[in-house]
This record gives sequence, C-alpha cells and structure tokens, in this order.
Amino acid sequence: MPAFDPRHRDGTLAGNITIAFYRISQAVQHMLRVRGEAAGLSPAQIHALLFLRAARPEVRTVGGLAGRLLTSYATASGVVDALERKGLLTRTPLPEDRRTVTLALTGAGERQAQELEDLLDEIEAAVEDLPEADQQALARATKAIVRRLQAAGHVKVYEMCWGCQFFRRDAHPLDPRGPHHCAFIDAPLPEEKTYFECPDFVPLEDSAWPGMDPKGGDGSLS
Ligand code: SF4
Repeated sequence: MPAFDPRHRDGTLAGNITIAFYRISQAVQHMLRVRGEAAGLSPAQIHALLFLRAARPEVRTVGGLAGRLLTSYATASGVVDALERKGLLTRTPLPEDRRTVTLALTGAGERQAQELEDLLDEIEAAVEDLPEADQQALARATKAIVRRLQAAGHVKVYEMCWGCQFFRRDAHPLDPRGPHHCAFIDAPLPEEKTYFECPDFVPLEDSAWPGMDPKGGDGSLS
C-alpha cells in the first residue's frame, strides 16, 4: 500500500494515520538530534544512557544494550566506548565471571540521563490535551499496533514488572529475598527490582497498556 503517495492517503484513513505515525517518528528523531547536539551525544548514546538508568541490572551489558538498540554487538560496543571516553559510564568485570562485563553510569552519566527524562514531554502534553475518550481509544489502538510491530521484530518493549504476565504480586510476603515472585526466572523479587525495565516482560492480556499496573500504578513508556 503506497502510504507515501499523497493521492493514496487522500482516500484512506489507515494511510493518513500511518503517515501521522511517520511524522511523529520524525519529530522524535528531531528531538533526539537537537538534545544530542546540545549535550554532545548521538541519538544512540542518548538511548544507551536511558537504558542504563532504567534497565534491570542483569542486562546492563554490551549484549544487553545491543538487544535494546536492536543493533549488532560491535555497534553497541562502539556506543559504549564513546560514552566511556566521555566519562559517562564505566565497565566492570563481574567478580564471579570476569568474561562478563557490566556497565554502570558514572555520577556525570546519571546526571546526564536524568536531564534527558523530559525528552518526550512535548508529545505527552499533546496527548494530554486530547479528550479522555480519545486518549483511551489511542491507548488501545497504539497498543495493538506496537504488539504487531514487536511480533515482526521492529521494536522490543521493555517494561517493569507490574503489568507482566510473569509477575506474582505478594507471592511470599515474608520471604526476606523479596515479597513478589517472577515466574519467568522463578525467583523472588524485592520491591525495588519490580521498577526496572525488563527485556523478558510480557504484557497482561487485560492491561490497558504494557507496563500499566492493573491495580492502579503507571508504567513508563520505553
Ligand atoms: S519477566 Fe516480568 S515479572 Fe519477571 S522480572 Fe521481567 S518484567 Fe518482572
């Protein structure tokens, strides 16, 4: 379907909506570029800083970053090299397996990542200006579209535990290792670990949006 052909779009709702998504993606790329130029960072470096701030500690590796960026190990390694040279992250071999190198933000990296948190505020404000019913319809529709794109391998959704099919809330409240449980790794989860973004997240079928706590809390978009 020729969505880029304006004559085609003129007659189809799906074509018009598809081009609107394309324009939104252009806006996001522009926001990344402008913010990156001001901070001396490439868009990939911005993604990496945000990933290292929010992801589950176990996946804060070059391989984990490659998975997040949907890129090769070599490309992710280049991004890490550049951020290391800028003093924004450090590499530390795991004491129990020195072949595994974990990545951590330095103080400067943490501050830089914090400053990037408002990157999408303008888009969120535009959504907030819509009537509630439109926001609900948009949430349902975009969720379905994201799931299809995810199944096709175009995007990987990382979210926190509260809307995940594997999350067992308060499964063993007296366990000193954590009151919750992850059925995916079959391990207890302390409360603080439930707020990390996880690559193994699978949304609840009835959740309004991936990561949205069905009992009331919000998730973050990735
Ligand atoms: S698989 Fe689900 S429940 Fe387990 S750690 Fe990841 S997000 Fe949390």
